[in-house]
Amino acid sequence: MGKKLVCELEAGDHIYCKRRGGLYDHHGIYVGDNMVIHLAGKAKKIQPYSCQECKNKGVINGEIAKICIHCFHGGKNLGVYAYGVSYFQHKTRKNGTCCIRAARPPHEVVAAAIHLLEHGGFGRYNLFANNCEDFAVYCKTGFAESKQIMGHIKRLTFMFPIVGVIATLPLAAAYTVHKGISQRGHGLT
Ligand SMILES: [Zn+2]
Repeated sequence: MGKKLVCELEAGDHIYCKRRGGLYDHHGIYVGDNMVIHLAGKAKKIQPYSCQECKNKGVINGEIAKICIHCFHGGKNLGVYAYGVSYFQHKTRKNGTCCIRAARPPHEVVAAAIHLLEHGGFGRYNLFANNCEDFAVYCKTGFAESKQIMGHIKRLTFMFPIVGVIATLPLAAAYTVHKGISQRGHGLT
C-alpha cells in the first residue's frame, strides 16, 4: 500500500502516479523488467519509443501500450493501488487508490495485461470501461471498476425510467419510515 520506489515494485503491481501537475492520476500494471502496460487514454503523449528503453522494449497496440517505468512516472512519486481493502478503508482513502475486490495472483495479472496488449482490445468490458484505472483494475481482478458499471446502470435508468422508479421505491419507503420515527421522537421531547 502507499508509495513505492521503482526497485521495490513487483510484477503484477497496479501502480499510479500524478500526470499534468496532479490534474489526474495515471494507472498501469507493472509487468516486470522495468516495463508497464497501460491504457493510454488521456496520457497518449507517453508512448513507447520516447526513450532508449522504450525503443528497445516498448509496444503499442491501439490504446494499449507497454512503456518503461521511467516514462510512466515521469519523475513523479509512484503509488501502489491496494486490493482487498475493507469497506471502511475504501470510503476513507482517496478515490482511485484502492479496491474492495481481492486481486488475482500476480502472474495472472501480468498475463491479463499482456493478453490485452497483444489483442488490442478490452474484452467484453469495452462498452463501459474506458479509462486507465478501469484497465488496471480489470487486469487485477477480472472485473471492470464498479463506478463505471454504476454509470452504465444510470444510463439504463435514464432510458427506461420505470427501472429507476422501482429501484427508488424501497429507498423512499425506508426514508419515510426513518422520518416518521424521528418526528415521533421530536414529539416526545
Ligand atoms: Zn521509456
